[in-house]
Amino acid sequence: MSITLARIHVSAYRVPIASPVATSFGVMQNRPAVFVRLEDSDGAFGWGEIFANWPAAGAEHRARLLVEDMADLLLGQRFDSAQDLFTQLTDKTHIRALQCDEWGPFRQVIAGLDTAMTDLEARRAGLPVARFLNPNAVQTVPCYASGIAIAQATDQVAESRSLGFSAFKVKVGFDHDRDRTLLRALGQSLGTGETLCADANQAWTLPEAERFVAACRGLPLGWLEEPLPADAPLTHWQALAAQCPIPLAGGENITGTGGFADAIATGVFGVLQPDIAKWGGFSGCWPVAQAIGSAGLRYCPHFLGGGIGLVASAHLLAAAGGDGLLEVDVNPNPLRDAFDPWQGAATRGTLTLPDAPGLNITDLPDEIAHFVSYSRDLHI
Ligand SMILES: [Mg+2]
Repeated sequence: MSITLARIHVSAYRVPIASPVATSFGVMQNRPAVFVRLEDSDGAFGWGEIFANWPAAGAEHRARLLVEDMADLLLGQRFDSAQDLFTQLTDKTHIRALQCDEWGPFRQVIAGLDTAMTDLEARRAGLPVARFLNPNAVQTVPCYASGIAIAQATDQVAESRSLGFSAFKVKVGFDHDRDRTLLRALGQSLGTGETLCADANQAWTLPEAERFVAACRGLPLGWLEEPLPADAPLTHWQALAAQCPIPLAGGENITGTGGFADAIATGVFGVLQPDIAKWGGFSGCWPVAQAIGSAGLRYCPHFLGGGIGLVASAHLLAAAGGDGLLEVDVNPNPLRDAFDPWQGAATRGTLTLPDAPGLNITDLPDEIAHFVSYSRDLHI
């Protein structure tokens, strides 16, 4: 099959939020997202999302990068598949990215385009993306409540529990003593069958992480995420893993097939978390998800952005199967909630994917239109 791309639509969005979302590395003052739609010369289309969570200033930049510096590689061009588009774009933007050292923005735009192209292909095949990737994909994936600030965790965990979640991830890496005290209290308040995970967002040095791990001894944490910077020496990760009874998690700041192969080979991770909107789209992340499962590790897609990337992550997890959980940000974000993949389901603790083709997104929800900060429609 050959696909000629005839139209690209890309929009960047900004939503002001009442309560900023704090992480150990900085504060999200508003919620951005970048959505992209590809259409072929037959009128078939697909949707994707380009990573833009951080920094917020990068949302419009990524949309402009696509329009001004990458559209020439797409419009009127023929591709055999999403994989072909991914490979061609990665190759053809290599020198452009090298010239400006902007590997991230280029990778993220390519990831969103790959997601859109895979959606387009699955739609043409009349299959949900999960089953397009794997005929034996499961239909329902378990979900966990994410983005919970440790300082507000008592309220946010209770709210998440009322929505049907039984697994919760809190952000730590702020004040060491307060983090530990709150986490211990939270761990002791969990009900039967509930799970608590902690995410330090790369906050600590090895001695700081060791102190935290020692203080958490006896706490039944599901995983400890990014206790060290992703680029900390491997010896530091190995030293921490050797003394940590809690599985270590990471992957949102790892890119490339080789990067994930290396991460699997280190043996330090119990949980790996590629972000489909940050690198790879389906073409990059689906083989990685399979490799994670084959290595006996837990594949839990990372995602904290808008509605399209969330649904794409759910399809990837459904294709992968295994014991992974879907990350669901519980902070207010109309750019996610307007898509409502739960469609009034009784619980958000699981997400059941419909039988509809592709990602089951036809048009963007009307209610997000007034949050547009940049939008372009290009065609041949
Ligand atoms: Mg994280």
